[in-house]
Amino acid sequence: MSAQRIGVIGSGLIGRSFSMLFASAGYTVVVYDVLPAQLEAAKKDIWLQLNALEGQGLLRGKLSKEQQFESISTTQSIEDCVKGSFFIQECVPEVLDLKRKVWSQVDKLISPDAIMSSSTSALLPSAISEGLVNKNRFIISHPTNPPFYAPATEVVPAPWTDPDVVERTVSLLKEVGQVPVLIKKEVPGFVLNRIQYAIMGECYRLIRDGVVSPSDCDLIMSQGLGVRYAFMGPWETGYLNAEGMYSYRDRYADMILGIQESFGPPERMDGPTLDLIQEDISRVAGPVENIAVRRQWRDKRLIALAKLKQDL
Ligand code: NAD
Repeated sequence: MSAQRIGVIGSGLIGRSFSMLFASAGYTVVVYDVLPAQLEAAKKDIWLQLNALEGQGLLRGKLSKEQQFESISTTQSIEDCVKGSFFIQECVPEVLDLKRKVWSQVDKLISPDAIMSSSTSALLPSAISEGLVNKNRFIISHPTNPPFYAPATEVVPAPWTDPDVVERTVSLLKEVGQVPVLIKKEVPGFVLNRIQYAIMGECYRLIRDGVVSPSDCDLIMSQGLGVRYAFMGPWETGYLNAEGMYSYRDRYADMILGIQESFGPPERMDGPTLDLIQEDISRVAGPVENIAVRRQWRDKRLIALAKLKQDL
């Protein structure tokens, strides 16, 4: 049944995750890549990941890992991937010309009611889709990495995207267990990265000005703000810290504005401040040569937190 088929383009880190997500809800997934070796590696890695998810109690959907695995096939033909698929998720490298090239190929193959969705982290939907015949079917579904443990997915329409494309994308992402967040207008960095870079910018200025060390700045996040932010955002935090938003305004708005007005202009990270950050954080996270060990440490904690949030 063609309505049950999803095409994934690019079988790297994100293509693998999306393939598993779609398979978890019973869709037939056809993954295309230009590199046959990548497709081979993807199948092996997907099997390992499904086993790990099952072991962690985080396998999504009602199907067994074997059934999910069998729903995913690979192809070296873009036509096989796209024809008959009602949803195409593109996961090729973050290069505008490459994405445009891939989408212009897809544009000639899709049925007019199919949805063309890109995983891009930062390219604007209008920039990728402006030359497409079916540009009204184009949207961005930008996952947080790793998608199985951090399910928020930014859904970003272009100015010309049809409303039903937005609705159906949001509903598909919900169906596979993601948390879609609609970004109503395209802006550089969407929302997740704008917030992330705003935090990074202020942290950088505080370190540069000698207010706090890099590792202590990270402690403020990991042992302070981040603990709350694992469960609620800044607005609910404010609401709960007073008697709702108007009371929060009455108590804190002037102070907040005064502090915000003292923020300096953005600065490109580099030079002695960056040296200081590298040196201090390498004491916490270990030398770059052993970075894999610390990544395992991080992943173990992300998995434990995802499990806690699922069980709460
Ligand atoms: P990746 O390098 O792991 O995988 C890209 C894959 O695309 C490779 O397998 C490559 O062989 C394949 N490819 C290259 N050209 C192709 C073509 N013309 N046709 C088909 N396949 C082709 O990249 P990734 O980390 O999976 O990122 C993919 C997209 O997802 C990027 O736009 C990236 O910005 C976005 N994204 C990445 C992350 C992340 O943390 N890695 C998070 C969110 C979104």
